[in-house]
Amino acid sequence: MRQHQPQLVIGAGLAGLSTLIHSQKLSAEAPLLLEAASHVGGKARSEHIRGFTFDVTGHWLHLRDPHMRSLVLRACGEAHFAPVERMSRVWSHGVYTRYPFQANVYGLPPTVIKECVMGAIEAKFNRPPEVSLADEPKRFSDWIRFYFGEGIATHFMIPYNAKLWGVSADEITSRWCQRFVPRPDLESIIAGAVGCHQEGMGYNATFLYPKKGGIQTVAEKLADLGGRENISLSSAVKTIDPRERIISLEDGQEISYERLVSSMPLPDLIDRTLHVPTSVREARGQLRATEVIYLNVGIQGPLGQADHWIYVPEERWPMYRVGSFTNAMPSMAPEGCSSLYIELSDRERSLDEIIPEVIQGLIEMEIIEHREQVMFIEPRRIPNAYVIYDERYHESREIIHHWLAEVDILSVGRYGDWNYSSMEDALLDGVRAAKWLWRT
Ligand SMILES: Cc1cc2nc3c(=O)[nH]c(=O)nc-3n(C[C@H](O)[C@H](O)[C@H](O)COP(=O)(O)OP(=O)(O)OC[C@H]3O[C@@H](n4cnc5c(N)ncnc54)[C@H](O)[C@@H]3O)c2cc1C
Repeated sequence: MRQHQPQLVIGAGLAGLSTLIHSQKLSAEAPLLLEAASHVGGKARSEHIRGFTFDVTGHWLHLRDPHMRSLVLRACGEAHFAPVERMSRVWSHGVYTRYPFQANVYGLPPTVIKECVMGAIEAKFNRPPEVSLADEPKRFSDWIRFYFGEGIATHFMIPYNAKLWGVSADEITSRWCQRFVPRPDLESIIAGAVGCHQEGMGYNATFLYPKKGGIQTVAEKLADLGGRENISLSSAVKTIDPRERIISLEDGQEISYERLVSSMPLPDLIDRTLHVPTSVREARGQLRATEVIYLNVGIQGPLGQADHWIYVPEERWPMYRVGSFTNAMPSMAPEGCSSLYIELSDRERSLDEIIPEVIQGLIEMEIIEHREQVMFIEPRRIPNAYVIYDERYHESREIIHHWLAEVDILSVGRYGDWNYSSMEDALLDGVRAAKWLWRT
């Protein structure tokens, strides 16, 4: 028999859970949340391996919106979290420099410092004094040179971003980076080049992290707040018929609905939706994303570096970032052990070839002393991890969202909206989605 549920939400990641919670303020009825996995959390989940807890790489909670902050603290209790001050550096030319690179080139070889400073001076004098958003260069590589100059571009920005995104900075636009890339002025760049360090730059200077259990504990508490009875786990949506307003699940069940919010990745949503016009299918074909392959690593003994994450921009290393859960929260590993997550930029070669180079890198970075400290390495994949903001991104995404609105489907969250954003943004999207679900 077909079930009827007026308000349906797909996905119990943070966007879906927030939609459920915020619906409570708008209606006595709750929407039904359908989740393909057997647990809530989406990307904000944790796994346990031999007494270690790993998130899906670093998932540090930055809460700038007072409402989202109070929601998370209400759900979890303030005592659930420890506030952490970011410890993050860049490793290149065989030395560590502080993060962000562009404001901290002190410590690099003198010729590199000179190139970075001279490039920043040239960039400053080649730029008009005031630049509106509309006048900024569109191509990310041009944007980098426009604001930071050739030296910082060559020694960090261009190679690091190519490793992270899996495509050249020539292929992506600068639209993703406004909030995420700190843009120190020339005085700060020069101060950082002569060793006058500035603390706290960037959106992620401090963060909250659960004292134990990993980031998934936040999703679990949010699920409790939203009401577990409203969440149907192991309920993967197979197809959506927007004309009949019927969803069918992989297990054969059907549910009719009136309004639908989805937080599954936008390309998957279109692939599973019936009667999609050709123009929308074509736009869907233009959406691109980078897969991330990362390693969960258990280490015997303490780590040689105290950072929460370290950027590795040089091409000769197959990883672009090395992070540590235990440096933020020792409870993430058994007593006497430490943990690492290592995000790989080499997406071509086999792990058998890559892993010895990664271990060699850890030794050269003085994170570990010898390879025997490595207790285990568990590789993991994140499909669609980073949405690629290429030149077709905006138009394609617009076409799809516009059509979805016509058939009364709202697609939200980092992957539903199809953007580069944080856990807090996913929670904020839930506010928008709840208002949309219960609009009159
Ligand atoms: C490598 C990496 C590192 C990150 N680090 C940070 C960080 O440090 N700090 C930070 O704030 N943010 C970070 N983020 C971003 C953060 O993970 C996301 O913004 C947030 O978790 C997105 O939540 P969401 O609900 O939008 O999507 P998701 O978490 O992807 O949730 C979508 C849900 O939909 C479900 N689903 C998919 N298809 C179906 C289907 N067919 N039927 C039913 N259910 C379905 C999925 O199982 C999933 O549970 C990081 C992201 C990545 C990839």
